[in-house]
Amino acid sequence: MVWQRLALYTGSMSQLTVPLGITFSDIAAKVTNGSRIGSAEARWLWINASDSELCSLAAEVRGRFHASTACTYMVMRIINYTNVCVAQCDYCAFYKLPSQDGGYVLSHEEVFVKLDELLALGGDLAAFNGGFNPHLPLSYYCDLFASIRARYGDSLEFYALTIAEFVYLADHAKLSYTAAAARLKDAGVRWITGGGSEILTEEFRARHSKFKYTVAQYFEAQRAIVDAGLKTTATMVIGFDESFEERLEHLERTRQFQDETNGLASFLCWTFKPYFTQIGGIEITAAEYLRHLALCRIYLDNVPRIRTSVLTQNQQALIGLNYGADDFDLPIEDEVTQKAGATISLDFDRILNYARELGYSPEYRHVSLGNPPWPTGSKLG
Ligand code: SF4
Repeated sequence: MVWQRLALYTGSMSQLTVPLGITFSDIAAKVTNGSRIGSAEARWLWINASDSELCSLAAEVRGRFHASTACTYMVMRIINYTNVCVAQCDYCAFYKLPSQDGGYVLSHEEVFVKLDELLALGGDLAAFNGGFNPHLPLSYYCDLFASIRARYGDSLEFYALTIAEFVYLADHAKLSYTAAAARLKDAGVRWITGGGSEILTEEFRARHSKFKYTVAQYFEAQRAIVDAGLKTTATMVIGFDESFEERLEHLERTRQFQDETNGLASFLCWTFKPYFTQIGGIEITAAEYLRHLALCRIYLDNVPRIRTSVLTQNQQALIGLNYGADDFDLPIEDEVTQKAGATISLDFDRILNYARELGYSPEYRHVSLGNPPWPTGSKLG
């Protein structure tokens, strides 16, 4: 089977055994009835289902939330405000240790220039993502975010930090996650997103980024963010050396968190870029990414917005709309992934036309106008 050959790219995938006593029609009946699939069924789908079978189930779950041809997009910029970091993740090509040459911290003025460029290109969402810089106190972040809110008001929105940075920042300031979230909220922050999660298993964290956070810390922090009334999202990165079971554990933890909090506005999965990283390796195929995307849509039946990654898959990410996604970014910058091999195109018309060729009607999603908006014809109001 074609898929089993593709699965060999990720070593441990070839160890998977086919769950017995399960058929595609059993799973399809469950999904059509609005029931949830479990890990054995997800495993069965991953090994046995054809692409068209995965697409049909993903479309079924997508159809609970959105009209079949609807999709949304944003023009956005990731602002890497500092590359100084003490976490030393072995999959990162971006960071500099505090003692190394080449470290930087952006000034407010440099951030404003980037935001002005974003607005000029028609975008209105910035996402801040930087390293764990021990020289930056909480006041640096509060001053920066308050100055952005004061200068731009609601003309743009910003994702203030990833949860990974938030955990470091709170710990570094010796504050509880609740207190740190309150301080950031007072500074005008509305979003702290689920970036920096990669694969949420303790084994993965120990193998690749033991100084970053534990999975328990990650979810404790995200719960505090939700409880503070801030908005958040979930993310995932595949294509390291993670096993299929680790991918499933990540999805299960995400689904469980959403069951408990209903705090996740969206889920975005992208692929690891290995170039110039310590662990290196080869990129997984687009085919593997798309199949995984479909599985995410089917498994995460409680997350209405599933996003596909133009940043790491370029135009072909839009094929992900056929695999259950309903939303995508058009990024204009992200130093972290660009340093590891990602390429960015500013030819938005070409990318959007491709979505139209695939039969979709992309609509701009203004995060600055609040959350949703959902696309036309959405069943979410
Ligand atoms: S991935 Fe983030 S936390 Fe890890 S080393 Fe790179 S900048 Fe630091």
